[in-house]
Amino acid sequence: MHTVWKGAISFGLVHVPVKMFSATEDKDISMRYIHKDCGSPLAYIRKCPVHDVEVEWEDIAKGYEYEKGRFVLFEKDELESIGSAGNKEIKILDFVDLNEIDPIYFQKTYYLSPDSAGANAYNLLLEAMRQSGKIGIAQISIRSKSSMAAIRVIDNCISMETIFYPDEIRPISQVPNLPQAIQVNDKELTMAKMLIEQLSTPFEPGKYKDQYREDLMNLIQAKVAGEEIKVAPQQQQTNVIDLMSALQASLAAAPPAGKGAASAEAAPEEKKKRKTKAKAKDIG
Ligand SMILES: [Zn+2]
Repeated sequence: MHTVWKGAISFGLVHVPVKMFSATEDKDISMRYIHKDCGSPLAYIRKCPVHDVEVEWEDIAKGYEYEKGRFVLFEKDELESIGSAGNKEIKILDFVDLNEIDPIYFQKTYYLSPDSAGANAYNLLLEAMRQSGKIGIAQISIRSKSSMAAIRVIDNCISMETIFYPDEIRPISQVPNLPQAIQVNDKELTMAKMLIEQLSTPFEPGKYKDQYREDLMNLIQAKVAGEEIKVAPQQQQTNVIDLMSALQASLAAAPPAGKGAASAEAAPEEKKKRKTKAKAKDIG
């Protein structure tokens, strides 16, 4: 893991020097734009459309468009001078309970490890947070950007989730088409709740995987090996007509309660029967 930031956590007058590491990594397979004729990856140039020239970095400023076509310009050091930017600190302002923070606020997670000579303070903060069960809400400034963060303990590591400011969260009232008064059919509700019950299982993240990424990687490997690519036809979507039949079919197809995906491998005989049943219901 490489250090993405170095600074200190402060709570009260206590300073805890830390190094920061990304806790997550994006595994998306990235592709580049290639010129079909020759196979070269495209180069990008920063071009001024008025002078029709490529512009060097030293001739580039940042500009904010305050009204259409009009910009105020900033130099790098001007932007660094405002706020607490450049202040290498994770400042804990409050302590709260984790369940008070809705997941909508969470952005990205980092691990924090004690920096040189900071082990005592680090351990103290870690153990105090663990025993109190509290989450620290902190203000951070990293690379001329200020953000809020939740500081919490994962196993034996202090970690940090950057969180959105409240005014960055869009209000639910802007979502179109939401029901005002909720009315549902009692029978359908009972069945929907049964279906939830049947699919209920402890959260085991290990059982979920990115099927698209796996398929894409297989396709890439086949292409590299020079195999002819055949695309499998799309699986046909079941054409379910009404809610009740959809619920009945789902209940029939779902594994028994509490077993989750683990019991999906039912005996072939039974599986076949269920499928036929589900199909019959769909049509009716
Ligand atoms: Zn120009």
